[in-house]
Amino acid sequence: MKLENKKNEDITIYLEDQEAVANTYVMRCFTVIMIVYVIALCLNLAGIFTVEQSLVWKSFVPSLMIYVFVKLVIKNLSLSDPKTKYFILFSTIVVFTIIGVFLTYHVIYGPLLPLLYAILYPSKKFTKFALILTVISTAIIVYAGYYFGLCDANMVLLTSGAMEEYIVNGQFTLTQINENPVFTLFLFFVMPRCLIYIVFVTVCRSIYNIVSGSLEKAKLTEELRIAKEEAERANLAKSQFLARMSHEIRTPINAVLGMNEMILLESEEETIRNYAEDVKNSSELLLGIINDILDSSKIESGKMELLPVDYSMGSLLNDLYNLIRIRAKDKNLKLVFDVDASIPRGYFGDDKRIRQILINLLTNAVKYTEKGTVTLRVTAQTTGEQALLRFAVRDTGIGIRPQDLEILNEEFRRVDVVRNRNIEGTGLGLTIARQFLTLMGSKLVITSEYEKGSEFSFELMQPVIDEMPFGNFQERLERSARQQKKIEFLAPEAKILVVDDNKMNLKVFCGLLKHTKMKIFEAESGRSCLELLEKQKVDLIFLDHMMPEMDGIETLHVMKERRLCEKIPVIMFTANAIIGDKEKYLQEGFRDFLSKPVLSEKLEEILYKYLPQELFVKEEVVNKEPAVQEELAVSAETAGEGLSIPEEIKKLIPELNISAGMATSCGDEEFYLEILGDFVNLPIKKELQQYWEQSDYHNYCIRIHGFKNNAYSVGLREQGDIAYDMERLTREGFSEEVSVLQKQLFEKYDAFCAAYHTVVKKKGESAE
Ligand code: ADP
Repeated sequence: MKLENKKNEDITIYLEDQEAVANTYVMRCFTVIMIVYVIALCLNLAGIFTVEQSLVWKSFVPSLMIYVFVKLVIKNLSLSDPKTKYFILFSTIVVFTIIGVFLTYHVIYGPLLPLLYAILYPSKKFTKFALILTVISTAIIVYAGYYFGLCDANMVLLTSGAMEEYIVNGQFTLTQINENPVFTLFLFFVMPRCLIYIVFVTVCRSIYNIVSGSLEKAKLTEELRIAKEEAERANLAKSQFLARMSHEIRTPINAVLGMNEMILLESEEETIRNYAEDVKNSSELLLGIINDILDSSKIESGKMELLPVDYSMGSLLNDLYNLIRIRAKDKNLKLVFDVDASIPRGYFGDDKRIRQILINLLTNAVKYTEKGTVTLRVTAQTTGEQALLRFAVRDTGIGIRPQDLEILNEEFRRVDVVRNRNIEGTGLGLTIARQFLTLMGSKLVITSEYEKGSEFSFELMQPVIDEMPFGNFQERLERSARQQKKIEFLAPEAKILVVDDNKMNLKVFCGLLKHTKMKIFEAESGRSCLELLEKQKVDLIFLDHMMPEMDGIETLHVMKERRLCEKIPVIMFTANAIIGDKEKYLQEGFRDFLSKPVLSEKLEEILYKYLPQELFVKEEVVNKEPAVQEELAVSAETAGEGLSIPEEIKKLIPELNISAGMATSCGDEEFYLEILGDFVNLPIKKELQQYWEQSDYHNYCIRIHGFKNNAYSVGLREQGDIAYDMERLTREGFSEEVSVLQKQLFEKYDAFCAAYHTVVKKKGESAE
C-alpha cells in the first residue's frame, strides 16, 4: 500500500516537472510571437514597414492583455484538476471568439495558443511538433489560397465582417495593404490561421482526452470494484472460517474442562488435583482466546448484534470486581472501583458487551502493571431519560510510548514487544473492545505516559430505567460479601410461573425457592402454561425448552401472540447449556437463560435481576453459613449414628456426587433426600421402553432429556452423561447404539435404586 503511494507520488512529481518544462516552453513561444508584434509595430511607427495602423493596434493591444492574463494564469493557478483545465479551455475559447468577432480580427486568436498549451499539454515535444506542423501547413494553405483566389473564402470563414476594407472587386490585393507582401502575409494571415488551426487541434485533442480519460476511469473504477469485492469476499470467508473453527475447537475444550472438573471434584490425590488445576487454568485461557477469536470474527462477518436488556450497574460492577480482584491480588495490586454514588442504578443496554469491554481493559491494566493501583472510575451525566456513562480504567503500569499509541489503533497489534515478551497476549483484547464500542456508537480513548501508567476510557449513552442513585460501591461490596454464599430473601408477594414437563425438575425448582415464600405456579406443558396465564397474572416466567407437544419456544411465541406475557420477563430454563444457544434464545424473545441443573446462586441472581425490587422484603436477609460442603460434614459428624443416608448410598454407589446434589437442593439435606426419593421412583424405564416399542423417537428424546437433568440434579453425573449420549444418538438415528446404552443406563439406575432402598430401609429399621 505504502509502496503504491510512493509510486503515485513519484508520478505526480514527474508530471509536475513535465508541466513546468512545457509551461516555460510555451511562454517562450508566446514571447517570440509578442516580440514579432512589437517589431512590426516599431517598424510601422518608423515608417519602414507600413501596415494599416488600426490593424496593428487591434492586434497588438488585446494580444498584450492576453499575454499578461496567460502569464498570471500559468504562474498562479495550479491546474492539476482536469475538470478545471477543461473548464478554463472552453470558457477561454468562448470569450476570445466573442472578442474576435467584435474586433473582426482573427489575429486575436494568436495569444490563445500558448494558454491552451500551457493548460492542456505538459509535453514540450508535442507542443513543438504541433507548432511546426501548423506553421508549415497553414503557410501552404494560405499561399495556395492566394494563388488560386481562395483567400476571400478563407477570410470570410475566419473573420466576421469588414471584408470590404481589404477586398477590391471581389479580389484580395496584398499591395493595397502593404508594400511588403510576404511579411504582411505571414504576420496577418499565416500566423492567425496557424493559431486557429492549432486551436482546432487542441480542441480535438482535448475531446479525445476527455473521452479516453473517462473511459479509462470507468475501466479503472470497474477493476477497483472487482478487486474490492474480491477482498471483501476473502475477508468474509476468513471470518466465517475462523468462526467455524473456534466453534469446533470450543466444544472439545468444554468437554476437557468438564471432565477436569470431575477430576477436581472426585480425586483425593493432591498431585492429581494439582495437575488438574493446571489443566483447568490452561484450558480456561485457551477457551478465552477461542472465544475472543469467535467474537472478533463474528463482528467482522457482521453476525454480532447488540442485545440490549435492562441491567443493573450494581451487578455489572460486582461481577467485574469479583473477577478482577483475584488477578489483582495475585500480583499484589490494589484494585479500586471509584463509582460516583449519584449515578443512576439501572440502564437499558447490552451489559454483556460492556462487561466484556471492561474485562478486557481491566485484565490488561492488571497484566501490564507491576506495582501500584488499577482503578475503574465510573461517572455519568444524566440528561432526561438518558445518561452519558463514562468508564475509565487507569493503571500505574508500564505505560505506552507516544509513537506506539498510534499503532494501537490498528487491529491485532501489540506494542513494545521486547519489553512485553514475557507477557502473554494476542492483540485481540483491544481490538474486540474497540469493535464492540463501534457497534455501540462509541470509541476507545487511550492516554498514557511511558513508565508511569495509562488510561483507557470510553463513553456510552444509555437509557436510564432506574433513576435511584447507585450509592456507595464499597458498602455495597461489603454487603454482598457478607451475603455471598447464600442470600435468603423473602418475597411473599412475588408470583412465579415455572413450566416443565418433568415433575422432578419442578419439585427441585420449588424446593429451591421454598424459603422465599414466593407464590409459585407450576405447569407441566406449554398448553397448561397458556391456560394458567389466561387466568393468572405473574411477575416472572421460567419456561422449559424441551417439552412434548408444544416446546418452550413455540409456547413463548403463542404467549406473545396472545399478549399473555407483555412486560413479564420470560426466562429460558433448559439443559442446552451451550454458550451459543443463549444468544439464540435471546433472539427468540427470552429475556435470560437459566441452565439446568439449577444452581441456587444463579437462580437468585435472576430473581434479583428481573423481579420488581419492591417485592423483596429486605430485612429478612439471613446469612446461611456454613457453606454446603461444611454443612454436610457437620451433619455427618453430628448424626452420631455414623453416616447420613446419601453417604451410606455413596458407599454402595461411588458415582453419587453428594456435593453436586446438595448444591442443587441449596444445601438442604432433607430436601435432597426428598428429591433422591423422587428420582428412584421415576417411571423412566417403563416410559422409555414404551416409546421405543412404538418408535416414538420424538418423545423418547424428550423423556431421556428430562432424565439427564434429573440424574445431574441428584449428583449422578455418569447416568446423566449416558442419557445425554442416548439423546444425541437417538436424534442421529443410531438405534443399535442407543439400545446398548439404554441397557447400561437401566443397570446403573437399578443399582442405584436398590442401594437407595437398602439404605433407607436400614436407617428406618435402626430408627425404630
Ligand atoms: P494483548 O493480548 O497483547 O494484551 P490487547 O489488544 O489487549 O492485546 O493489547 C494490545 C497491546 O496494547 C498490548 O500488547 C500492550 O502492548 C498494549 N497495552 C494494552 N493495555 C495496556 C496497558 N494497560 N498498559 C500498557 N500497555 C497496554
